[in-house]
Order: sequence, then C-alpha cells, then structure tokens
Amino acid sequence: MDTVRHADIAIIGSGPAGLTAALYAARAQLSVLVLEGNQPGGQLTITTEVENYPGFEHGIMGPELMDIMRKQAQRFGAESIFEHVVEVHLDERPFVVRTDRERRYSADALIVATGASAKMLGVPGEAEYMGYGVSACATCDGFFFRNQRVAVIGGGDTAMEEALYLTRFASEVVVIHRREEFRASKIMLARARSNEKIRWITSTVVEEFLGETLPSGIRRLTGLRLRNVATGNVWTEPFDGAFVAIGHKPNTDIFRGKLAMDDNGYIVTECKSTRTSVEGVFACGDVQDHVYRQAITAAGSGCMAAIDATRWLETIRHTAEAAA
Ligand code: NDP
Repeated sequence: MDTVRHADIAIIGSGPAGLTAALYAARAQLSVLVLEGNQPGGQLTITTEVENYPGFEHGIMGPELMDIMRKQAQRFGAESIFEHVVEVHLDERPFVVRTDRERRYSADALIVATGASAKMLGVPGEAEYMGYGVSACATCDGFFFRNQRVAVIGGGDTAMEEALYLTRFASEVVVIHRREEFRASKIMLARARSNEKIRWITSTVVEEFLGETLPSGIRRLTGLRLRNVATGNVWTEPFDGAFVAIGHKPNTDIFRGKLAMDDNGYIVTECKSTRTSVEGVFACGDVQDHVYRQAITAAGSGCMAAIDATRWLETIRHTAEAAA
C-alpha cells in the first residue's frame, strides 16, 4: 500500500475544532489535508438549530454551519478527504495515517480533532426522535423547552449539570436513574436535590422513546416508557423533551498506547497549549476537553492547535536548515 498524499499538516476530524484548525493552517500557507471521518462536520450535524454560535444573530442549522466552516477552510486551500482514519503511525517521520479505503496519507504535523460521542441508550425511538425532542446537550437545546416537561437520563455529574441547567427553561425536570445511588459528586447531587423544579425517578430504566408524526410531517417526542428494575412495573410518562446524559466517549481508540490519555480516554494536552505527549502531534476540541464541550470552545482550541503546529513546523524546519 503506497502513501498517496503528503501534506504539511494532516487534521483528523472535521467538527468545529478540525475545520477551524484547517482554516488557520491553510491561511498560514501550509498544505492541509482534513481527514473528515465517518461523520463529516462532527456532532453539530446531528443537532438542529444552533443559537449560541457567535456571529449568527438568528441562529443557524448545525449542518449548515459546518458546511460554511468547510467551505471557508477550502477557500484557502485546505482539502477534505472523506475517509475514516483507522490507524496512525506516530513513531515514523513524517507521520502516517491509514484510512478505511486502505489509503495512506503522511504529514509533518498532525492535529487530532476526532471529538467525542455522547453515549446513547440504544433503545427503540431514541435515534428516531433525536433532534425532535431527544437531545444529548442541554446547553445546545434546553432553550427550546420553555415551560415544558423534560426528562434527564443518568446519575452522574453530567446528568446533574444538565438537570440544573434545564430548570432555567423547563416547568419540570425529571431525573431518571437506573440505581438508587448516584455516581454524581456530593456537591452536584446536593445542588440538584435542593432545586424544587427537579423530581426524581430512581431504579428505573427507559424502555422506549415514544412520539408521533404531526400532519406537517415533523416528528415529536411525547413521552417515555419506563420500567422500575426493582418491581418490574412498566408505565408511560409524558415528556416534551428527553436529555440522555449517561456520559461521553472520546473518539481515541486509534491513539490508545500512542498518546497520553487520562483515565477516561481523553487526550492529555500541555497546560495552555495543544501539544500532546508526542512532539508534532496536537489535539483540540472535545477529544481533549470533557468540561466545556461547546462548538465555540472547540473552534477556539482548533485555532490554537493550528498556531501551535505552524510555529512548531517553522522551528523544526529552521533548525534543519541551519544544520544543513
Ligand atoms: P459518568 O460516567 O460519571 O456517569 C454516567 C451516568 O450514566 C451514571 O450514573 C451511569 O449509571 C449512567 N449510565 C451509564 N450508562 C447507562 C445506561 N446504559 N443506562 C442508564 N444509565 C446509564 O459520566 P458523566 O458524563 O456524568 O461524567 C464524566 C466525567 O466528567 C466524570 O468524571 C464527572 O465528574 C465529570 N464531569 C464533571 C462536571 C463538573 O465537575 N461540573 C460536569 C460533568 C462531568 P451508574 O451510576 O449506574 O453506572
């Protein structure tokens, strides 16, 4: 298998982090390949309207925003490759990546922007009503549920945070958790417990997301079918929205054992930098951030990664020239 292309910088991932990195690196007159992956545009392509990305006064649809970002990077010469990276060789120079099309690409610097994926329950109706009442991001979609009744599924810190955030909009927030004990930190749990808008259903799992299709053809969530795991009791509760908050999984499987990661599999970057444990490899966006997880923070860190990679390339090339 031959290496088909070489670039100054290869970017793995095409969400706000990857495409912003592409824009900055391409504007720095470097050759840039963006390996877009299985979900070109990233997590925003599975949301509907994005109202909190600065610059769009009236909001913008997630897929459209990503389309604009891609075109903006391409205007300066960044090239999109619609292939999924399945293997990386970080012990070679230049770095080499192999894709699902059995093609190899090489690059002097690598930017990892593979993001994270919200874990989903995988029960009937969940995928069908995703974006139509089912969400995995309260900060993104909470605003659409003013004075409505919503569920939050999960018992960790994310679930508590999502539930608390949703009390700003919703008339009632019901936390549904599969056990009696909560994994969430004491302080977050106490904060949520003291909020009068939050109600609790424990030892209960979601069996099905229920909904309907309106005459206009638009789908809408109407409720959840629940099962108490202790008693076996099954019942239906009406909900306008359901937020799945059972954790995120960083998309880092191909970097396991090759880049330093924390206990949850997030890539570790240096303080105030996007440098990883391997020189010449930089990381940005949700793959290295489990705290903020916003499009705008991902884009910001993508910009940082491009600047870090550009400066690093300049330094090593200058050093090589001086030694020659
Ligand atoms: P966690 O893994 O901590 O919690 C996931 C929760 O979802 C658990 O309660 C788990 O239940 C439940 N769950 C998992 N799978 C299923 C399933 N299939 N069906 C039903 N329930 C399920 O993930 P978080 O995203 O909450 O947190 C990840 C990390 O990020 C943690 O370290 C957390 O502290 C941190 N974080 C910190 C925040 C802060 O400090 N402000 C905010 C958000 C996250 P069970 O307990 O039974 O396993």
